[in-house]
Amino acid sequence: MKQNIVLIGMMGCGKSTVGRLLARRTGRRLVDTDQRIEEALGRSIPDIFAKEGEAFFRDWELGVSEELARERELVIACGGGLPTRPDSIASLKYSGIVFWLNRDPGEIYDAVSMAGRPLGQGGREAFLERFAQRGLKVFSFIGDSTFFHSGITGLINAVYNGAKTSIFILDNSTTGMTGHQDNPVTGVTLMKDVTTAVDIRTLVLGCGVKPENVRTVDPYDLKATAAVVKEAYEAEDLFVVIVRQPCALLKSVIAHRKGQHCRVNADKCRSCKVCINKTACPALTVGENGVSISTEDCNGCTICQQICPFGAIEKEGE
Ligand code: SF4
Ligand code: SF4
Repeated sequence: MKQNIVLIGMMGCGKSTVGRLLARRTGRRLVDTDQRIEEALGRSIPDIFAKEGEAFFRDWELGVSEELARERELVIACGGGLPTRPDSIASLKYSGIVFWLNRDPGEIYDAVSMAGRPLGQGGREAFLERFAQRGLKVFSFIGDSTFFHSGITGLINAVYNGAKTSIFILDNSTTGMTGHQDNPVTGVTLMKDVTTAVDIRTLVLGCGVKPENVRTVDPYDLKATAAVVKEAYEAEDLFVVIVRQPCALLKSVIAHRKGQHCRVNADKCRSCKVCINKTACPALTVGENGVSISTEDCNGCTICQQICPFGAIEKEGE
């Protein structure tokens, strides 16, 4: 496994200790983001916080995260607040597997020295208050087919018991994991007879989810998807998002998208590899001439085009 192992968790939860053990066990190099910043600036974290402020420090964390995300086979112990900046954790997430070391804040405060920790300076009460305010949001993901055969009961359970979770039903209009069988969303039986399709939104509403808490979004539209994810995160009640886009491997989709693809404009491309790291799309490759897109494998979904920071990806075909 070449992916990085990324450790997150609040200050004092044991990321450095676990990181050291993991690094020894796996023969990897351990990188501590706080230490990396201290070495680069030649100052301690409390000093940077006190003189430059938190925003300055978080900018440095972002730079270090992007740098480390370009490497592989590392154990990365992240500073406690690093995931609070979504773009910092996003790049690390695409470089490996993220593990959250979840430890009780009260236990941490009592067991760990707070002397050199800027966020631990206000005393025990302030410390617990600060972390209590953040709360935890639970996101659940389930495919359309699985939702029909075993997710509905969970949804009813969540409605009935007043769960505040956000549930994402990923509707790719097929049963991908067992061989692309139809399911109730497609309106076709396993014998290929046309039947009554079950509408997921109607079903969700029928289970008792409030209409104002149900959204349907196209995942190929990253801006709209990000906006809905934000809504789901901020929702104070049960929230359901139906993420709908038919599987790219369906024959009907292949026929529909025939001739559509994206290409990299070599004059604009800066070889930052953001497109590769963030999409993991097999149509994108790096060769001697830089990043390119295989027109045979690309279906023109435009996700890489939307995330390229330099406008170097262009769409061809309609
Ligand atoms: S196409 Fe865009 S995102 Fe991909 S490497 Fe080039 S500049 Fe970076
Ligand atoms: S347009 Fe979609 S399928 Fe094509 S390379 Fe980009 S991400 Fe991959």
